[in-house]
Amino acid sequence: MAGYGTREVLAVRFGDRVTTRAESFLNYHLYGEPDENIGIDYYFWVIRDGDGTVTLVDTGFAPAAGDRRGRNWHTTPADALPALGIDPGQVGTVVVTHAHWDHTGNLHQFPDARIVMSQAEYDFWTGPLARRAHFAAHAEPAELARLAAAHREGRLALIADQHTLAPGIELVEVGGHTPGELIVTVAAAGGTVVLASDALHFYEEAERDRPFAILADLPGMYRAYDLLADLAAEPRTWLVAGHDPAVRDRFAPYRDQAAVTDLTRPTGSP
Ligand SMILES: [Zn+2]
Repeated sequence: MAGYGTREVLAVRFGDRVTTRAESFLNYHLYGEPDENIGIDYYFWVIRDGDGTVTLVDTGFAPAAGDRRGRNWHTTPADALPALGIDPGQVGTVVVTHAHWDHTGNLHQFPDARIVMSQAEYDFWTGPLARRAHFAAHAEPAELARLAAAHREGRLALIADQHTLAPGIELVEVGGHTPGELIVTVAAAGGTVVLASDALHFYEEAERDRPFAILADLPGMYRAYDLLADLAAEPRTWLVAGHDPAVRDRFAPYRDQAAVTDLTRPTGSP
């Protein structure tokens, strides 16, 4: 797409673990298939423009939270960005796609960045229902407090429905997985990258219509899958699942960085 020729869109794999299909897909018994182990990756995403503007999409999980929850982790954004030639202080905006613990850790590494998330997400996680067990299990209170502090400091921007973050970067509220889950569409050289974050953990959710196990609203999650499938059917539009190891097959590695995937270079593998 003209004008975005120098924009980079990268996925940084910072953690992983082995899980099971039964733990990953809602009511897996409905499919009548044996359970098996599957890998799950943890990513955050980087959008860098030719003029040096850097937007981070999510901040991964904090090492201590990862250790406590039994996830392998390899790096944090502040440790990984310098290898990409990015000073963490250069990150002007952090998009929080949703407030689950594996997307809001390490926010303290960006004390001056503007944080953008949906109003619905913020309201939910600062409200009473977030304390109920099936929601609370997926958030870290200290990180929610950090979002609230950013709100008081006037550096939290709350959006609704759809928001143009910068030319060619759209935030779209889809809900489903969480009350205000966002996806991010990014116009780049040659096409559009759709950062689905946890609106799509695994490609199989949209491609085989199998909802993920953790959710706020099942109709909303199905509608998000439909939207993502519609987007993926557009010419030169590439879907990036939020936790799927297949991302690293569907897109090429970034330069010599084994943990970084270049989301503007699809490999054509399904
Ligand atoms: Zn996640």
